[in-house]
Amino acid sequence: MTVPVITLNNGLEIPQIGLGVFLMTDENETDWAVKQAIYAGYRHFDTAAAYGNEAVLGKALKESGIIREQLFLTSKVWNNMQGYEKTKQAFEESCEKLGTDYLDLYLIHWYGLDVKGTWQAMEELYEAGRIKAIGVSNFTIEHLESMKEYAKIKPMVNQIETHPYFPQNELRAYMEKEGIAHEAWGPLSQGKTDLLFHPVLQELADKHDKTTAQIVLRWHIERGTIIIPKSVNPGRINENISITDFSLTAEEMEKIAGIDMNTRYGRIPNDHEFIERTSKE
Ligand code: NAD
Repeated sequence: MTVPVITLNNGLEIPQIGLGVFLMTDENETDWAVKQAIYAGYRHFDTAAAYGNEAVLGKALKESGIIREQLFLTSKVWNNMQGYEKTKQAFEESCEKLGTDYLDLYLIHWYGLDVKGTWQAMEELYEAGRIKAIGVSNFTIEHLESMKEYAKIKPMVNQIETHPYFPQNELRAYMEKEGIAHEAWGPLSQGKTDLLFHPVLQELADKHDKTTAQIVLRWHIERGTIIIPKSVNPGRINENISITDFSLTAEEMEKIAGIDMNTRYGRIPNDHEFIERTSKE
């Protein structure tokens, strides 16, 4: 399986398809899913301190026998660890749990209470070679603009909710202009919508002899977005990476653009109550 790569603004290559492990809380299930993913050809894994599964992921990867240099590991600093000192501590804790001494990508999970101090710590870890690329998640245009006041290094990635019902066209255009790679979370809309039953996608799935999930994931690939679909089901894990043997025409991409509902299903980036609460926990 050859997975395409995206080159980030610092020259680092990131596999365009990875496995997201949000809500993988059962240890045996997570262990099994990660090993199935390795077998299917995944080398890129997206976790976060907040997911509580870094240690299980790290152990499964070690047992898979794949050498560290062939893996691409992302984790994220949680809201209650924002700030210069705490971020450095959070980074070390994530590395220890994952069984590694560096991360390929480290993200600020949400625009929290001390983004400036957090970013400064990440810049230093990046300059020291402990993180290969640094970025953010759930950041808006305003958030990204505000970082320009102090950031020495521009974020390489912004990981944001994106799927055909919420294609993020405005933020996406801004990030393209700024050289910030677009990474989609909830690429299948988290199973929260009827997206995978949409007639336009069903028609394209029939035409290409693929599933509607594969059509959606291919749409992301054609847009140059990095995707991290989550599944613990071996068949779906395999299905979600088996999208490199077909392509969508410009006309088909237009059809999918037509089902945009400009509707977010996940948390809004400026949920102040959530940010305040989780910064204290
Ligand atoms: P997703 O869009 O990947 O959807 C996952 C759901 O889709 C699961 O319920 C799964 O059973 C189902 N599914 C997966 N493959 C399928 C297939 N082929 N056919 C039918 N159904 C299928 O949503 P997600 O897990 O929330 O997002 C992916 C990853 O993004 C997460 O695992 C996590 O790593 C990351 N994430 C990040 C943030 C953030 O704030 N940065 C938020 C949410 C998720």
